[in-house]
Amino acid sequence: MKKLLSIVVPCYNEEEATPIFYKTIHEMEAELASVDLEFVFVDDGSRDNTLKVLKGLHQQDERVHYVSFSRNFGKEAGIYAGLEKAKGDYVVIMDVDLQDPPSMLPKMLSEIENGEYECVSTRRVDRKGEPPIRSWFARKFYKIMNKISSADIVDGARDYQMMTRKVVNAILSMGEYNRFSKGIFGWVGFKRKWLEFENVERVAGETKWSFWKLFIYAIDGIVAFSTAPLTLASVFGSIMCLVAFLFIIVIIVRTLIFGDPTSGWPSMVCIILLVSGIQLLCLGIQGQYMAKTYLETKKRPIYLVQEEE
Ligand code: UDP
Ligand code: MG
Repeated sequence: MKKLLSIVVPCYNEEEATPIFYKTIHEMEAELASVDLEFVFVDDGSRDNTLKVLKGLHQQDERVHYVSFSRNFGKEAGIYAGLEKAKGDYVVIMDVDLQDPPSMLPKMLSEIENGEYECVSTRRVDRKGEPPIRSWFARKFYKIMNKISSADIVDGARDYQMMTRKVVNAILSMGEYNRFSKGIFGWVGFKRKWLEFENVERVAGETKWSFWKLFIYAIDGIVAFSTAPLTLASVFGSIMCLVAFLFIIVIIVRTLIFGDPTSGWPSMVCIILLVSGIQLLCLGIQGQYMAKTYLETKKRPIYLVQEEE
């Protein structure tokens, strides 16, 4: 019997891109003839006609399944729902805007079918068509992240990856609420092959990621996969103790040699501001972790379904 390949596609306000995506995959089915196909679209609370389009596709092709959320839960939740619904022996996660080139599917499939790798991942080798400031922050983020986290997070890695059932189950076993997929994929491990491609621009619609959203996403990623920022308070504290100790010695010696020195208040104000600033910063960092722990302990569902087929 042929193995089943599930294509998991999170969609948010993608009424234009969805039919183009389906058509593109449909046209290259001959190249994927060694497996049966299944589509799992996740409508992430779209406010346009995405759900209608998906229903249409389901009517025309019974291999098309969809899950529709009660509201927008974010791409990470969409991926989780898609993976839960997918029945395939192999599963591939793709963006609907064709920024994950479908032309790579046959190569990915043959690598997986060879049996040497459990997972075939992709990364962009450039960031063409993206504002330079965004690329700069992204690069810095990956650099810092890899230093302070045990999850292997690769610069330019996409969510576009094909994996075996083993890997899918491993990802599903991580039921955390704060889902940072790039971290989760790296954290589960398994033998992984990397394929590279050049950035492709979106086929229709527009990106859902503003700079600010990406910034929050980066902070969430760090909080989810590293506890290093929590040690900052201890580091700052130790340094300050050392400096204070040296200061005390200097002042005592100076007083003994030169008598009572006149000390200025401006330096005092600066020191107070600096130290209280550092204290607040560290408190804020701890707050971030506490907030995430708080949300995690509530054990809320990752997504809520309105309808599915
Ligand atoms: N997406 C989603 N929920 C969201 C935002 C995005 O399911 O809240 C989907 C979107 O429809 C697309 C994929 O995630 O299929 C990638 O989104 P986008 O193209 O906006 O991101 P970019 O490629 O610009 O990083
Ligand atoms: Mg995109």
